[in-house]
Formats: sequence, structure tokens, C-alpha cells
Amino acid sequence: MNIIQILPEHIANQIAAGEVIQRPSSVVKELLENSIDAGGGNINVNIVDAGKTLIQVIDDGCGMSEKDAEICFQRHATSKIQKANDLFEIKTMGFRGEALSSIGSISMVNIKTKLTEKETGIEINIQNGEINDKKECICKNGTSIKIKNLFYNIPARRKFLKSNSIEMRHISEEFIRIALANPHVNMNLSHNKKDLYHLKKSNFRKRIISIIGEKKNEMLVPIYENSSLVNISGFIGKPDVARRTRGEQYFFVNKRFIKNNYLNHAIQKGFSELIPEKYFPSYFIHLTIDPKTIDINIHPTKTEIQFENEKAIYAIIISSIRKSLGEYNIAPSIDFSQELSFNTYYDNKKEINIKEPKINIDKKYNPFNYNSSEQKKILHEEKIITNELTTNKVTSEFIQFKNKYIIFSDNKKIILIHQRRAHRRILYEYFFENLTKKKPHAQQLLYSKELFFNKEEMNLIKEMKNKLISIGFSLDIINKENKILITGIPHEFLKKDIKKILDYIIELFKEENKIEEEINKKLAISLTKELIIKNNHKMKKEEMSSLVSRLFSCKTPYSCPLGKRIIMNINDYKIETQF
Ligand code: ADP
Ligand code: MG
Repeated sequence: MNIIQILPEHIANQIAAGEVIQRPSSVVKELLENSIDAGGGNINVNIVDAGKTLIQVIDDGCGMSEKDAEICFQRHATSKIQKANDLFEIKTMGFRGEALSSIGSISMVNIKTKLTEKETGIEINIQNGEINDKKECICKNGTSIKIKNLFYNIPARRKFLKSNSIEMRHISEEFIRIALANPHVNMNLSHNKKDLYHLKKSNFRKRIISIIGEKKNEMLVPIYENSSLVNISGFIGKPDVARRTRGEQYFFVNKRFIKNNYLNHAIQKGFSELIPEKYFPSYFIHLTIDPKTIDINIHPTKTEIQFENEKAIYAIIISSIRKSLGEYNIAPSIDFSQELSFNTYYDNKKEINIKEPKINIDKKYNPFNYNSSEQKKILHEEKIITNELTTNKVTSEFIQFKNKYIIFSDNKKIILIHQRRAHRRILYEYFFENLTKKKPHAQQLLYSKELFFNKEEMNLIKEMKNKLISIGFSLDIINKENKILITGIPHEFLKKDIKKILDYIIELFKEENKIEEEINKKLAISLTKELIIKNNHKMKKEEMSSLVSRLFSCKTPYSCPLGKRIIMNINDYKIETQF
């Protein structure tokens, strides 16, 4: 006896729906994407009871013919694949012709749609995936779809919907993602007849601040990079707006929102040392990339993506973030009045007249005009304490203010340096570099020093021996007696209590079970703590000059390893406008 049966169409659709439509926000996402694909310039979303009662999306896009409106709710119905070549496009956008059929199988649908060239439109009602009513109607150009009573025929799913406020938060999030990806579209979202978002078409930057708030405008730093592999454009939040929760993190690939942990990690890394641990930077980044080199269909909801050249893109992202952050730290901050000129959003629609982005930043700017390889060489050879670079482009005296800041000028601007943070940065980079690559010379002691530890600590010290040597210790381990003989120590520790420092390092090693780089970072930060100048440390002129030049030899002079700002500029423009 034959036992295999083909699943009835509407059951198959319900199963597919389980993947595509998880909650009301999934419906909002699919309908909004269709409206965008239809070329709508105005899109309204009306929600009732967090989408449990009604989700309505109205657009003024291309609309559908009677025939198309009839079949669009069938599985694998899509107008977006016409030639085989389009398969690459499909990969980009993730067209599957599955959304409407899924939605139609788990809700009651009413659709009104009209082609621009037609006098009248068509209205169709769908229930259980089948058309149960169809008539001609008077309606505007475009499409209006109402989704009522979502999951009415799958009570188990309906029961698992969360509270209205949670479901509404998901809906807003989907709406925001699409609004950010499509700033050239007027978009509104209302819930129970109250307006939540009323977004006028604009450029990318304005769209962002109309969502995250105008106050944050000056916190956005443009980011851009053109390479043969990928184009990057958009904005990142300055390090000081990093938050404890992941929130304002948006990646768009070819205008679709995507999630990708690997690239997210690249951004986090671009910001590393600029923001405290466990904080998340804000970003709004568009990647434009050849669709042939990505695959977006690995997940039915189409938010995950795979890149062919993942590693290269990772590196490009890090470097473009570093570049932008470097530029903003030196450049005067950007104010709202200049906003239009920062439109890095590219758009092929003619109606918006986009100006060429113009950014008043001197990329080659270096406050002391050193040859940077020379800088490094000096740093390598002479080490930090004795390192005395001459600050030849500084055109003024160094002044100390409140025993806390160093002030000087380079004739273009006044530069203020937070001296203690600067010192922290210098020490940190010195130790980090030693820990990771250099082989420093230990300062040999005239008399070796004996230190005693317990068994567990002795084991740890054995494990750490190479690390200790790389920081600048020389030591012998004498197991039997549970002691170590210190024969040399790092130059900087000459006057310090070595036992205390070693205890500290051991403690750190005990609790750390992380990757090498993390350990090195932590270690470098701890060692820095031991040596950093006190608050209110009075400085002589030479000391200031040395600190400043060493600071500018650092890889990241603008913020200290704890993420705090070190340098502030007041440029001549700012000064002149005050008079
Ligand atoms: P896909 O978007 O992957 O093609 P959908 O199930 O979401 O699949 O939509 C099926 C088809 O219905 C689309 O290809 C499109 O032709 C048509 N369609 C859906 N929504 C709209 C809309 N708002 N305006 C015009 N056509 C639409
Ligand atoms: Mg679709």
C-alpha cells in the first residue's frame, strides 16, 4: 500500500510560515520590503493591538494587475525573477516568493491594489490561503494590504505572542531598519491610531537623527571607504556615545538590514581601547558589494549573510573606522548646519539632488609633522622613559593648567592635553608592545632578589615565565624551595615593590582565562596603574614636551586605554567666532 501523500498546499504554507513569520513584526518587515520593492515613495503602516488585530501597510508603488493580485498569495509567486541572470539579484535581496503565501495561510487578508495606468483597482479577500472574495474597487495608485487576526488558525502560536509592548517594540525595530535603509521614502508608523514615527524623506544622516534624536547629531562621524571589494558609507557614533546595551547597531548590505557577528566584531575592534569594556558602539553602515560575492539566503528571514571575502572586508571595516575616528579627533566637530554636505548616502533616484560629500578635514594632518616611521624607530631604540623627541612644529610654550592639562599651540589651533590620561596611553602602548612583540632588556640587579610563593602560585609563575620575561623580568625558578630568584626587572620598576607587582600579575593571571591578546591588554593596563603619574602632578617644561611628543608617537593618541578622551582642540575658526 502506498502511504506517501503530498501535503495540501495550505498546510505546506503554514509550515513555511512558521519559518518566515514568527511574530507580527515579521509581517511588517515582509510587507514593508514589498512596498519598497514596488518603488513606493510614501509608505504608511497602521498597527492595532501590536499587530495581533491588524497590520496595514499602504504604499503608492507600482501596484498589481488583477491577475498578479490573484496569484501573489500563491507559494513561490514572485515577479522578481524573470531571467536566469536575476538569480544573482535574488541572492542579494532574498526574493523567495514566500512571504505573502505564508502570511495568507495564517491570517485574514484584504488587499486593494491599482496600477497607475488603470482607472479602477481590485480588492481581494483571502482566508486559509484561498481567495474567497474578489471585486473591482475605487482606490489610489499602489497597494494597501490589511493583515487581520494573525495566527487565528494556529492558536498555539497566537498564545506564544508576547505582551503588546514587547511585540510593538519588535515592530518598531523592523520599521526602523527599513526606514534607515530607505531614507528617500516618506514613512509613517502608527499604533492604535497614535503616530509613533513620522519620517520625512531626507538624506541618511537626517533619517538617522530623526530616529535616534537630534541631540545625537554631533555624535555621528561619517565613515567612507571605496575599495574594489566593497564600498562603505555611513556613520559611526563617537566613542562617548557607546552604550551598555547593543542598540543602535545597523549594518546594511546593498540596502538591506543584515546581522553578521563577524563584521560586528570588526567594528567593535575598530573601536577597541576607545570605549570601555562591555560597551557597544553605535553604527549605521552601508556596504555596497557585488551580489555575486554574497549569499543572503542562508536564513528564511533573510537577515543573515555570508561573504565570499569575509576576512578582507573585516580588515577594511576596521581600518575605515580607525581612519574616521582619527579624523574626527583632530577635526573640528561637525555641526548641524553643515549637515547637508555630509550626505554620504548614494541614491540613484534623480529627484534628490545630492551634493558631493565635502569634508573639511586634512587627512594628512599630524600635529608635529613627524615622519611616522622615524617616530617608531626612535621609540624602538630609546624606549619610553629616555625618549625625548623634539616637538618642532609646536609654535608656543607648553603651559600647565591646574597641574592637570598641558596647553600649547601649533599656530593653527590651541591644543589641550589631559596629562594623566596621556601618560596612561603612553605606558599602556609601551607595555602592550613589549608583551606582544619586543624583547626588552631587563635591568640586571646587582643582588638578585628572593621571593617566596605557595605551590599554586609557583605553578602559575612557571606558566607565566615567558610572559614575565617579555615584560622585562629575568628570573630563575627554584621549585624545591618554592621560591623564585629575580635577577633583572623592567627598567620602570626599579623603585617599586616587586613582590607587590608580581602578586598583582599572578592574581590577574589566575582569573584570566582568555585569549592572549586580552591577557596582554589587561596586563598592560595593570602595569600602567603602577607607574602612572599622580593626579595634580606638577611638570617642568621638558617633561611636558617629552610627554606630548611621546603621546603623538602612540598608535592611538586620542583616547586612553580606559576609553577617555586625551586631546582637545580649539581651532582658529572657533576662536574667531567667539569675538
Ligand atoms: P517576493 O517579495 O519574494 O517576490 P512576496 O510573497 O513577498 O515574494 O510577494 C510576491 C509578489 O507579489 C511580489 O513579487 C510582487 O510582484 C507582488 N507584490 C507584493 N507586494 C506588493 C506591493 N506592495 N506592490 C506591488 N506588488 C507587490
Ligand atoms: Mg517580498
